Amino acid sequence: MTSVVPARTSAELIGAEEPVLAHNYHPLPVVVSRAEGTWVEDVEGRRYLDMLAGYSALNFGHRHPALIEAAHRQLDRLTLTSRAFHNDRLAEFAERLAALTGLDMVLPMNTGAEAVESGVKVARKWAYDVKGVPADRATIVVAADNFHGRTTTIVSFSTDEVARAGFGPFTPGFRVVPYNDLAALEAAVDETTAAVLIEPVQGEAGVIVPDDGYLAGVRELTRREGCLFVADEIQSGLGRTGRTLAVDHESVVPDVVLLGKALGGGIVPVSAVVARREVLQVLHPGEHGSTFGGNPLAAAVGTAVVELLETGEFQRRAADLGEVLREGLQALVGKGVVGFRSRGLWAGVDVDPAIGTGREISERLMREGVLVKDTHGSTIRLAPPLTITAEELQGALRTLEKVLTAHA
Ligand SMILES: *Cc1c(COP(=O)(O)O)cnc(C)c1O
Repeated sequence: MTSVVPARTSAELIGAEEPVLAHNYHPLPVVVSRAEGTWVEDVEGRRYLDMLAGYSALNFGHRHPALIEAAHRQLDRLTLTSRAFHNDRLAEFAERLAALTGLDMVLPMNTGAEAVESGVKVARKWAYDVKGVPADRATIVVAADNFHGRTTTIVSFSTDEVARAGFGPFTPGFRVVPYNDLAALEAAVDETTAAVLIEPVQGEAGVIVPDDGYLAGVRELTRREGCLFVADEIQSGLGRTGRTLAVDHESVVPDVVLLGKALGGGIVPVSAVVARREVLQVLHPGEHGSTFGGNPLAAAVGTAVVELLETGEFQRRAADLGEVLREGLQALVGKGVVGFRSRGLWAGVDVDPAIGTGREISERLMREGVLVKDTHGSTIRLAPPLTITAEELQGALRTLEKVLTAHA
């Protein structure tokens, strides 16, 4: 007997989630069932331009043919070995990722938060083994309004009370200074400092771009003070800002770069700590690990992602289309936009609060066929796939103008 399950509507599916799914998100009321490139489709067949791109996990769009092909090929051969054995895909992934970032060694993990956790552990180990910080005294200096993930240790150095409240006790050993403030950073660094950990552009905070010279200043300060510069490029890296890494805008090479999101091509979670050899070689067998980290499917997809970036095409697209985005947003200043920040194909747009909250603007845009996400207050974030065309981008900007001016 065949059982025919009637297709459920968006409203039914949203209602069905409510009693069985933890309420740690408040999604827009759209139920996506398929996608290709820059476009997603809901269960009723309505199409939307994706201007969030999975928080930059979908830099190459949905189901990029080269990435899907790499995944299919690997699915048919080998998917998991664990690191108890070698697999035939990992060496190439690590070689090419290290070369792409100008660094030496790779520690493969899965999610972004795991890369951050691993970076924290590596920095501490380096402080004890190489720098000579007394046991359990290492400190890591971070920036206010950071976003590095959701683990207990990571929320320990968050300044977002919603992310922290109710989750203590917290991991000690972190010092928080204002972002984009080299003097405050200098005052916080001392002989116990293992690392300075920052986002080269603060994404969740609203696409906060530091002043020119800040990243070079962090590099100079950390080198002079003898501590590591750890750049969390999980959202800013891999083409988003118009360069391979956001630190490339100041020709800076950190000691440690944390990657994730787009590294998995929107297919599987792939993250990595990429670092100078003198840093990553502090890890010895048994001291750190991950069952899934460096699995052959992840390595195959990650290698295909690196291959796309090796051409420079996506970095160029992000830079060129970033100009279109910036000019389009500039034209909306005073027409519902009170200010914006952008770098490459990535913008935080502050909407006049009289028009609506970021959430309300996002809902209105959704009804007009454009998907975005608010960050907080009246700020929305625009980060489309780097495969978007100029026409699609201009269409999204026209829709934004329509939504903002209809309610002015
Ligand atoms: C998303 C993000 C993370 C956490 O990544 P997950 O894969 O969600 O754990 C860490 N740092 C930055 C800058 C991010 O944007």
